[in-house]
Amino acid sequence: MSISFSSDVIIVGAGPAGLALACALADAGIRSLVLEQQPAAALAQPPEDGRDIALTHRARRIMSELGVWQHLPADDIAPLRQARVSNGDSPRGLVFDGQADGHEQLGWLVPNHRIRAACHAGAMARGEAIQLIGEARVTALTRSAQAATVTLADGRQFSAPLVVAADSRFSSVRRMAGIGARSLDFGRTAIVCRMAHAQPHDGAAHECFLHGHTLAILPMAGQQSSAVWTVKSDGADALMALDDAGFAQAVEQAFGSRLGTMRQAGARHAYPLVAVYAERFWGPRFALVGDAAVGMHPVTAHGYNFGLYGVETLAKQLAKARKAGRDLGEARGLAAYAREHQRVTLPIYLGTNVVVKLFTDDRAPAKALREAVVGLSNLLPPVRAAVTRQLTGRPAHGLWRALDALPLPPLPKLPLPRWLA
Ligand SMILES: Cc1cc2nc3c(=O)[nH]c(=O)nc-3n(C[C@H](O)[C@H](O)[C@H](O)COP(=O)(O)OP(=O)(O)OC[C@H]3O[C@@H](n4cnc5c(N)ncnc54)[C@H](O)[C@@H]3O)c2cc1C
Repeated sequence: MSISFSSDVIIVGAGPAGLALACALADAGIRSLVLEQQPAAALAQPPEDGRDIALTHRARRIMSELGVWQHLPADDIAPLRQARVSNGDSPRGLVFDGQADGHEQLGWLVPNHRIRAACHAGAMARGEAIQLIGEARVTALTRSAQAATVTLADGRQFSAPLVVAADSRFSSVRRMAGIGARSLDFGRTAIVCRMAHAQPHDGAAHECFLHGHTLAILPMAGQQSSAVWTVKSDGADALMALDDAGFAQAVEQAFGSRLGTMRQAGARHAYPLVAVYAERFWGPRFALVGDAAVGMHPVTAHGYNFGLYGVETLAKQLAKARKAGRDLGEARGLAAYAREHQRVTLPIYLGTNVVVKLFTDDRAPAKALREAVVGLSNLLPPVRAAVTRQLTGRPAHGLWRALDALPLPPLPKLPLPRWLA
C-alpha cells in the first residue's frame, strides 16, 4: 500500500539546526514540515539569549550556501583574529593566530538570536518547500515499515517517510525513538553577558583557566565583548544576584583589567553545563541532528558548528537518495550520515571533555599536567596547527588527513586516570 505524504521529512525543533536542515533539504527538492513548540512569532524575532556563537570557516561556507549568512546584520558579525589561552597565574600561555594559519581570521562571532532569526528568514524565503508550524509540541513518535508518525500535545498527527529530531540536547524525541545518550554534567554553570570596555579588543578571544573558575572574553562588534564566566553551580546564584556595577567590577578584576574599565551592556543569562552524545544518530525512519545528536561544552565553541556539519552531511545523503528515487527513510543514507558525523565529532567531543576536566581541576597533579600540556603545545607547532585547524574548521592535509580518515570504533572508553574520567 502506498501512502501519500504532505511532506518528505518531518523536522522536530525550529532551532538553528532544524531550520538550517529544512533550508538544505529544500535546496535538494525535499519538502519538510518543521514542528516547533514555541509560538511562530517568537521564531521570527527570537529574544536575545546572551549566547554569542563562534563560527568556523566551514560553518560560514555552509551558512552562505544556504543563503542564511546573508540574513545576518553586518554590524553583528565580529571577526575572531586570535585566541589566547592562559593557565592560572602561569606566565606561559597558548596563542592561536588566524594569520599564522594563512587566514585573516580564525572565525567569526555572531549573537545566537541573530543566527536563529537568519535561519528563520532563510526558511521563509523557500516558500512552500518548508511548512513551519508553531505551538506544535511533539509528544509521541511511532514508526511502521511505510512511515514515521508524530503526535502533538493537542492530538494532531503528521506522517512522513522520515522524522529528524533537532529538539535540543535534552531531546525528548530521541528518547521516544529508543535512543539513549551519554551525558556529562560538569556541575558548573556558564554565566554569559555582553560587556562594554574602555580598551579595544583587537579581535582577540581570551580563555582564562583560573582557580576554581573559567573566564572567556570573546570579541564582539564595536568595543564590546561577550563574557562567559563558568563557575561551580553552587556559586552561580551569588554572581547572578550581583547588581550590574558589582558584576562588571568582578569580571574586570578576574580579567586583570586587560581591557580597562568594564560596564555590563546586556542581560545576564545562566546555562548549567551538560555535554551530551547520543548513542546512535539514526534508527528506522529516524535521525538526530544538532544538539540532539551532539551537545558540546561551549569551551571549544563547536556546538552549532557541529550542528551545521551534520546538516550538510545528512542533506547530502538524503539528496542522493532522492536523486536515485530511493526511500528517504531507508537505512543506507542514514547510516552513512551517522558514520561521517561520528567520525568528525567524537574525537573532539571526548577531547573537549578531557580538556575541561584537566583545566578545571585545581589539584596538584592536574596543575602540573596542564602546565606540561601548554609547554608541549608551544614546543610542537604541529599540535598548535591541528588545534587551529579545528578552530577554523579547515580540512586536514597530509598525515593529519590520513589520521582523520581512520575509522572509529563506536564510543570508545578512554583509559583516563580516575581523577580525569
Ligand atoms: C553559553 C553557550 C555558548 C555557546 N557558544 C557556542 C559557540 O561559540 N560556538 C558554537 O558553535 N556553539 C556554541 N554553543 C552551542 C549552540 O548554542 C548550540 O549548539 C545550538 O544553539 C543548538 O541548536 P539546536 O537547533 O540543535 O538546538 P536548540 O537551539 O536547543 O533548539 C531546539 C528547538 O527545539 C524545540 N523543541 C524542543 N522540544 C520540542 C518538542 N518536543 N516539540 C517541538 N519542538 C521542540 C525548542 O523549543 C527549540 O526551539 C553555545 C552554547 C551555550 C549554552
